[in-house]
Amino acid sequence: MADTIFSKIISGEIPSHKVYEDDLVLAFLDIGPLAPGHTLVIPKEPAQTLDQLSDESAAAIGRLLPRLCRAVQTVTGCREYNVLQNNGPGAHQAVFHVHFHIIPKPSEDAGLGIRWPAGKVEDGAEMAKRISEAVTTS
Ligand code: AMP
Repeated sequence: MADTIFSKIISGEIPSHKVYEDDLVLAFLDIGPLAPGHTLVIPKEPAQTLDQLSDESAAAIGRLLPRLCRAVQTVTGCREYNVLQNNGPGAHQAVFHVHFHIIPKPSEDAGLGIRWPAGKVEDGAEMAKRISEAVTTS
């Protein structure tokens, strides 16, 4: 995988406002926060998208996320927040190293804005069956 700005942050080549670090995970402040306290959580493993991440790194991030969310809540005083994870340029991924955003939602106008064009489920039984079968081989 090509070097990204995040691999340079992991190696210390580029500075960051570090929030947490262990053997598998790093968390730091987003350089362009949607709200104060906007934090990025990344695996040290250089996977581009979530589907490419190892179980070990995924478990390490999963264990940590609630704790980091609580820390961001405590410090910002925001009870509400979004956890966002983009995969692929069409899905708004700009840095091709897996990352989770923790974005406080201090008010209606601040934090993450989402367009949510909900549709209707069609062929739900068939879709669910196909995905559940694919889970076993993924
Ligand atoms: P995404 O669109 O999900 O790929 O988000 C990438 C995020 O990385 C954006 O919110 C950027 O503000 C953030 N970002 C880019 N460069 C840096 C950096 N050097 N330090 C901290 N955050 C960064």
